[in-house]
Amino acid sequence: MNKTIYMDYAATTYTKPEVLKEMLPYFTENYGNPSSVYSIARTTRRAIDRSRDRVAAAINAKASEIFFTASGSEADNWALKGIAFGNRNKGKHIITTKIEHHAILHVCDYLEKHGFDVTYLSVDKQGFVNLDELEKVIRQDTILVSIMFANNEIGTIQNIKAIGNICKKNNVYFHTDAVQAAGHVPIDVDEMNIDMLSLAAHKFYGPKGIGVLYIRRNVHIDNLLHGGSQERGRRAGTENIPSIVGLGKALELAVKNMNENSMRISKLRDRLITGLMEIPGTILNGPSGKSRLSGNVNVCFKGIEGEAVLVLLDNEGICASSGSACTSGAIDPSHVLLALGLPHELAKGSLRLTLGDGSTEKEVDEVIAAVKTAVGKVRSMTLR
Ligand SMILES: *Cc1c(COP(=O)(O)O)cnc(C)c1O
Repeated sequence: MNKTIYMDYAATTYTKPEVLKEMLPYFTENYGNPSSVYSIARTTRRAIDRSRDRVAAAINAKASEIFFTASGSEADNWALKGIAFGNRNKGKHIITTKIEHHAILHVCDYLEKHGFDVTYLSVDKQGFVNLDELEKVIRQDTILVSIMFANNEIGTIQNIKAIGNICKKNNVYFHTDAVQAAGHVPIDVDEMNIDMLSLAAHKFYGPKGIGVLYIRRNVHIDNLLHGGSQERGRRAGTENIPSIVGLGKALELAVKNMNENSMRISKLRDRLITGLMEIPGTILNGPSGKSRLSGNVNVCFKGIEGEAVLVLLDNEGICASSGSACTSGAIDPSHVLLALGLPHELAKGSLRLTLGDGSTEKEVDEVIAAVKTAVGKVRSMTLR
């Protein structure tokens, strides 16, 4: 067996040992239900409060504005459905983009089936939303703008502050899917005029199956889950205490080490990009420099499908991903790459390599060599 080189940090991360360590007692001795009155319940209640404080501090929110969910997807669902059904009397128009995660786009499909009207903004060749276009499509009956903070496929970081300003000026709610950004990019919900924000722990070295929806005070939003009065009556279900503890710890750590980590990782990213661009017929998708997520690399190779390269890399123990989804044998081109204006053929052939805390220069160099070999092999097979 080859050793594994993990370059899929945008799909998920491992849980850091110091995060796991804080979680463990909440599986065993501290198991009290926080809704109960006795002292072991108070212990778990305090643990939730502490985590809520940590999350609030990380994004400059108030603890009372932080709500724990079971995933980033749930937070996205809650934001969109909650605003839509809670504000139907005001209007039925929602604005989003063509490059959102499916946790946004598939919710928009659902809302369209239920009588809402959705405008999907295009993006430029590097994945940026046009602010003038956003301003133009806002209508009297617009109730929500949902634009992702940073894209999971191509790493584009939007000008969130400018978008927030436009929404505030036009008096519409602004939600941002910050699942790729939280813990990696500075976030200040006040300065950026964000009304709602989704994040998930497993993208910043916390556990899977736990997320947060930040909801600014006074935002009128319906509940998604009904039942008990957990989360101040806003989200039913006994709290997942170990994961809530892990999320808070992981986010605090990520924010504390953000500058240092993103400097180190963006250097590795640029080394990887430079190496891959030596392969003839390689196209870099997404922007370069500061407006690209520090760990994101996404390339297309002219004339070949990304899937074939992925399989060869897997044989070498390299974990990578392609933007396209393989459904029922047919490769669907990535909706994000199509939105950039790439032709179908190229949009089917992308390779995403995402770096993180465990990545090293040695790994980057090994991967560059392996991709060169793999692309050469696939090209020679395709030519025959
Ligand atoms: C991973 C991801 C999600 C989904 O989060 P889960 O916790 O896996 O449900 C949503 N949006 C973006 C941008 C993501 O990268």
